[in-house]
Amino acid sequence: MGRDHDHADHSELSDVERRVRALETVMTQKGYIDPAALDVLIDTYQTKVGPRNGARVVARAWVAPAFRERLMRDATAAIAELGYSGRQGEHMIAVANAPGRHNIVVCTLCSCYPWPVLGLPPVWYKSAPYRSRVVRDPRGVLAEFGVTLPASTEIRVWHSTAEVRYLVIPERPAGTDGLSEEALAPLVTRDSMIGTGLARAGVTSNVELTRYQRAWRNAAQRTVHGAPIVLSDWYGPRR
Ligand code: FE
Repeated sequence: MGRDHDHADHSELSDVERRVRALETVMTQKGYIDPAALDVLIDTYQTKVGPRNGARVVARAWVAPAFRERLMRDATAAIAELGYSGRQGEHMIAVANAPGRHNIVVCTLCSCYPWPVLGLPPVWYKSAPYRSRVVRDPRGVLAEFGVTLPASTEIRVWHSTAEVRYLVIPERPAGTDGLSEEALAPLVTRDSMIGTGLARAGVTSNVELTRYQRAWRNAAQRTVHGAPIVLSDWYGPRR
């Protein structure tokens, strides 16, 4: 009976998570990795480095024109002014949304992502469906994330690589004129800085999975088995 309960708990883990756990166990047993060191790394990127860093950069760009100008000219240096620098963020480029222009970022090869400002990439960012489809159908992918842009809006897709990482500067939401930098930062979601979302007054979550992200996550897991995916098949009932 207890076995059933254990099974129910473990079923929360995806195939990938189970593989990672198994690998970690074997590598620890062989002495290749130190679990304490891994914990420090994971804690760093889960609690100290994450999208709130990028959100502070964006909020400052919204309120401080001089900072925004420096950010657009040399993002690496401007971001370092706020203390954010390091691995996977050595060569940053900021791309700003504007009326009629939307930017979205992808690494088609793997998962290149600006760690110092956004933390670790979400699973869907690394998934084959996102990587392949966002290039040829960015408007369709955006719609699946719940973002519908006017047909006249130009969408620019930026290819994040080992050399260059992009940070999208979303448009400041309407109705936020009186807000301070500190009050604005929570409006800047992680997805708005990748380009799969917009900054919105009243939307402050960087972590909650939307229905669409859940679909991407499920689809990403499915690719492990090499099966072709039609994403729209996955938007039905929660799995
Ligand atoms: Fe990559």
